[in-house]
Amino acid sequence: MNKTLARLRPLICSLALLTGAGPLYSARAAAAPKPKRLLVVTVTKGWRHDSIPAAERMIKQLSDESRAFAVDYARTDDELKAKTTAAGLKTYDGVFFAQTSGDIPLADPAAFLEWIKAGHAFIGMHSATDTLPGFPDYIEMIGGQFESHPPEHITVQCIIEDHAHPATSHLGKTFKAHDEIYILKNFNRARVHTLVSLDKHPGTGAHGYFPLAWNRMYGKGRVFYTALGHRADVIESDWYRRHVLGGIRWALGLAKGNARPQRP
Ligand SMILES: [Zn+2]
Repeated sequence: MNKTLARLRPLICSLALLTGAGPLYSARAAAAPKPKRLLVVTVTKGWRHDSIPAAERMIKQLSDESRAFAVDYARTDDELKAKTTAAGLKTYDGVFFAQTSGDIPLADPAAFLEWIKAGHAFIGMHSATDTLPGFPDYIEMIGGQFESHPPEHITVQCIIEDHAHPATSHLGKTFKAHDEIYILKNFNRARVHTLVSLDKHPGTGAHGYFPLAWNRMYGKGRVFYTALGHRADVIESDWYRRHVLGGIRWALGLAKGNARPQRP
């Protein structure tokens, strides 16, 4: 750097900050807060989705693009056991169950829920509600449980219940999704803030209330779940990526959003 430029450097930096022209000499990057750390769990003991690689890729891209959070992975039983001990969990701000299924081996399931309650994030995608079926406290935490889905992938008209939440603010009043559509049980509308729902049974078309995505407080912890995301083309779509990123940002406390049940 020549002398003149060296003298001008503080001025250039402050001008760049004032004009929003982006980081010169990484002045901005130096001031950026440390990214949150998210543990992405893809262990399965029941159904294994062949779209798991697409889900991992999508979460990594969201991490790289947003720089809001860094990711680590638990892909095997041993990794999951090691990373969900009390000492292991201390290194994370949240956990993302990406298409997990069945009785996956957490180090200590009860302590895991207490850890969320103490103020950490839980994000669940699709078969996260088909996980730990014999552990009612987990089902209570996530807010619902997989019951069934129509045999065919279908197109449904999704109703957006919160137009300000970061997970749904880009989706309009209603939008169409083509996916494997879950019907859930052990869901209590009074316990969650519903973000996406259907007013028709995805199989029979009968009128009713069928939730597909929600968020809730769990003690001081924040829980976001979306039942959508079976198909790789859904996972890779722009609307879904923004849906999940909004959910992650809300759950990690990086974005504001209502969590009060609409019908307490
Ligand atoms: Zn599925």
